Amino acid sequence: MALLRVRHCRALLYCRRAPPQCPACGGALGAGGLPSAPVRLNCPFRHGHGQPRAFLVRPTRGSFMRGYDGSSDLHVGITDSRGVVYNYDQEGVHRAHSGWEQCICIPLVQPHMVELLQQWDNLLEEFSEGEAWLPHRYDEQEHNCYTFALAFINHVLSRQGKEPLSKGEFTERFVLPQSRRASRYLTLHHELAHRDCYIVPLPEGGQSSSAEHDELLY
Ligand SMILES: [Zn+2]
Repeated sequence: MALLRVRHCRALLYCRRAPPQCPACGGALGAGGLPSAPVRLNCPFRHGHGQPRAFLVRPTRGSFMRGYDGSSDLHVGITDSRGVVYNYDQEGVHRAHSGWEQCICIPLVQPHMVELLQQWDNLLEEFSEGEAWLPHRYDEQEHNCYTFALAFINHVLSRQGKEPLSKGEFTERFVLPQSRRASRYLTLHHELAHRDCYIVPLPEGGQSSSAEHDELLY
């Protein structure tokens, strides 16, 4: 379902379909020229099985767009080149061909890293067979899906002679920017479930710093 943002008077309007008149000031929306043309906001979620060599995040139960309340448990995994999701839980490492249809997705390999592109599947399969990922080693707090995914990323980094990433670094640099964007999108989605238009007033002088507001509000 489309999510549009229209800038008008001193407000950002979020809607499914642009109304003829601005609900904030009553002015005609078509009259504002290019700055008030509706912008389509892209859904931040990806079909995980179509995202090769990526770090994926999804709710452990349910999906982001249905039932996720912003604090329920999340589950993470890593895709191979065909979109099979390797993920670790109390039953060991799963190689999932379905169930990851709506994810936050962080690509892990640049297209120019030819050697790594070729080795990826073997590295991931070999790594997953390690005894660290046997079912009895699982611990919900200390040795979980995130431990598995990050350890694999660090395994790849170390083969390239690079420094490992701590959990905090990886989360801060790669996961949080994406999950903030996703949570803003979900907020708008929820607001628009029971109204046609969601109005966010801009502060005085807000017209000049559109990029900043785009960043803040979506
Ligand atoms: Zn207006």
